[in-house]
Amino acid sequence: MDCLFCKIVAGEIPSRKLYEDEHVIAFYDIAPQAPVHFLVVPRKHIATLDDLQEEDKPLAGHILYTAQRLAREQGCEEGFRVVMNCREPAGQSVFHIHMHVLGQRRMAWPPG
Ligand code: 5GP
Ligand code: ZN
Repeated sequence: MDCLFCKIVAGEIPSRKLYEDEHVIAFYDIAPQAPVHFLVVPRKHIATLDDLQEEDKPLAGHILYTAQRLAREQGCEEGFRVVMNCREPAGQSVFHIHMHVLGQRRMAWPPG
Protein backbone atom coordinates (compact mmCIF):
# COMPACT_ATOMS: atom_id res chain seq x y z
CA MET A 1 0.00 0.00 0.00
CA ASP A 2 1.36 3.39 -0.95
CA CYS A 3 0.90 5.15 2.38
CA LEU A 4 3.50 7.55 3.76
CA PHE A 5 2.69 6.87 7.42
CA CYS A 6 2.60 3.08 6.92
CA LYS A 7 6.14 3.49 5.55
CA ILE A 8 7.18 5.55 8.59
CA VAL A 9 5.56 2.93 10.90
CA ALA A 10 7.52 0.21 9.06
CA GLY A 11 10.75 2.23 9.33
CA GLU A 12 11.08 2.45 5.54
CA ILE A 13 11.05 6.25 5.76
CA PRO A 14 13.00 7.85 8.63
CA SER A 15 11.34 10.03 11.25
CA ARG A 16 12.34 11.75 14.48
CA LYS A 17 10.57 9.35 16.81
CA LEU A 18 9.48 10.30 20.32
CA TYR A 19 7.65 7.17 21.37
CA GLU A 20 6.46 3.79 20.15
CA ASP A 21 4.57 0.82 21.51
CA GLU A 22 2.69 -2.07 19.94
CA HIS A 23 -0.27 0.14 18.92
CA VAL A 24 1.07 3.63 18.13
CA ILE A 25 4.13 5.61 17.21
CA ALA A 26 4.77 9.32 17.76
CA PHE A 27 7.22 11.43 15.76
CA TYR A 28 7.91 15.12 15.14
CA ASP A 29 6.10 16.78 12.25
CA ILE A 30 8.41 17.58 9.34
CA ALA A 31 6.85 21.06 9.00
CA PRO A 32 6.24 22.16 12.60
CA GLN A 33 3.49 24.72 13.19
CA ALA A 34 4.51 25.35 16.81
CA PRO A 35 7.70 24.96 18.90
CA VAL A 36 6.36 21.52 19.84
CA HIS A 37 4.53 19.71 17.04
CA PHE A 38 4.38 15.97 16.86
CA LEU A 39 2.00 13.35 15.50
CA VAL A 40 0.55 10.29 17.23
CA VAL A 41 -0.12 7.62 14.63
CA PRO A 42 -1.68 4.16 14.98
CA ARG A 43 0.33 1.31 13.47
CA LYS A 44 -2.94 0.11 11.92
CA HIS A 45 -3.79 1.78 8.62
CA ILE A 46 -7.04 3.71 8.96
CA ALA A 47 -7.44 6.25 6.15
CA THR A 48 -9.60 8.88 7.85
CA LEU A 49 -11.38 9.40 11.14
CA ASP A 50 -14.59 8.56 9.25
CA ASP A 51 -13.20 5.04 8.72
CA LEU A 52 -12.84 4.37 12.44
CA GLN A 53 -14.79 1.23 13.44
CA GLU A 54 -16.41 0.22 16.72
CA GLU A 55 -13.48 -2.17 17.30
CA ASP A 56 -11.06 0.78 17.07
CA LYS A 57 -12.48 2.56 20.13
CA PRO A 58 -9.72 1.35 22.50
CA LEU A 59 -7.11 2.38 19.92
CA ALA A 60 -8.66 5.86 19.65
CA GLY A 61 -8.49 6.23 23.43
CA HIS A 62 -4.89 5.07 23.41
CA ILE A 63 -3.99 7.70 20.80
CA LEU A 64 -5.57 10.44 22.91
CA TYR A 65 -3.96 9.28 26.14
CA THR A 66 -0.55 8.98 24.45
CA ALA A 67 -0.94 12.53 23.11
CA GLN A 68 -1.59 13.87 26.61
CA ARG A 69 1.28 11.98 28.20
CA LEU A 70 3.81 13.01 25.54
CA ALA A 71 2.60 16.64 25.57
CA ARG A 72 3.44 16.77 29.27
CA GLU A 73 6.83 15.14 28.63
CA GLN A 74 7.50 17.78 25.96
CA GLY A 75 6.97 20.61 28.44
CA CYS A 76 3.45 21.57 27.36
CA GLU A 77 1.91 21.58 30.84
CA GLU A 78 0.80 25.22 30.30
CA GLY A 79 -1.51 24.05 27.52
CA PHE A 80 -1.51 22.30 24.20
CA ARG A 81 -3.82 21.60 21.28
CA VAL A 82 -4.71 18.31 19.62
CA VAL A 83 -6.05 18.28 16.06
CA MET A 84 -7.30 15.56 13.74
CA ASN A 85 -8.13 16.77 10.26
CA CYS A 86 -10.74 14.51 8.69
CA ARG A 87 -10.79 14.53 4.86
CA GLU A 88 -9.27 16.99 2.42
CA PRO A 89 -11.64 19.96 2.92
CA ALA A 90 -10.77 19.94 6.63
CA GLY A 91 -7.03 19.98 5.87
CA GLN A 92 -6.12 16.28 5.84
CA SER A 93 -3.18 15.65 3.51
CA VAL A 94 -1.93 12.23 4.69
CA PHE A 95 -4.63 9.57 4.55
CA HIS A 96 -3.59 7.50 7.56
CA ILE A 97 -5.12 8.93 10.72
CA HIS A 98 -2.89 10.93 13.02
CA MET A 99 -3.35 13.23 15.96
CA HIS A 100 -1.40 16.49 15.82
CA VAL A 101 -0.13 17.75 19.17
CA LEU A 102 0.93 21.42 19.18
CA GLY A 103 2.33 23.36 22.09
CA GLN A 104 4.62 25.97 23.59
CA ARG A 105 2.98 28.87 21.84
CA ARG A 106 -0.28 30.77 22.26
CA MET A 107 -3.07 29.42 20.03
CA ALA A 108 -5.86 31.38 18.36
CA TRP A 109 -9.47 30.35 18.02
CA PRO A 110 -11.27 29.85 15.67
CA PRO A 111 -8.61 27.98 13.69
CA GLY A 112 -8.07 28.87 10.03
P1 5GP B 1 -2.59 16.48 7.82
O1 5GP B 1 -2.39 17.60 6.83
O2 5GP B 1 -2.95 15.19 7.08
O3 5GP B 1 -3.51 16.78 8.96
O4 5GP B 1 -1.19 16.26 8.52
C1 5GP B 1 -0.13 15.64 7.88
C2 5GP B 1 1.12 16.14 8.55
O5 5GP B 1 2.19 15.27 8.20
C3 5GP B 1 1.53 17.55 8.12
O6 5GP B 1 1.58 18.40 9.26
C4 5GP B 1 2.89 17.35 7.47
O7 5GP B 1 3.81 18.38 7.77
C5 5GP B 1 3.35 16.03 8.06
N1 5GP B 1 4.23 15.26 7.17
C6 5GP B 1 4.08 15.07 5.84
N2 5GP B 1 5.06 14.29 5.36
C7 5GP B 1 5.86 13.98 6.43
C8 5GP B 1 7.05 13.21 6.57
O8 5GP B 1 7.59 12.64 5.62
N3 5GP B 1 7.59 13.12 7.82
C9 5GP B 1 7.02 13.76 8.90
N4 5GP B 1 7.63 13.62 10.09
N5 5GP B 1 5.89 14.49 8.81
C10 5GP B 1 5.32 14.61 7.58
ZN1 ZN C 1 -1.16 3.83 6.25
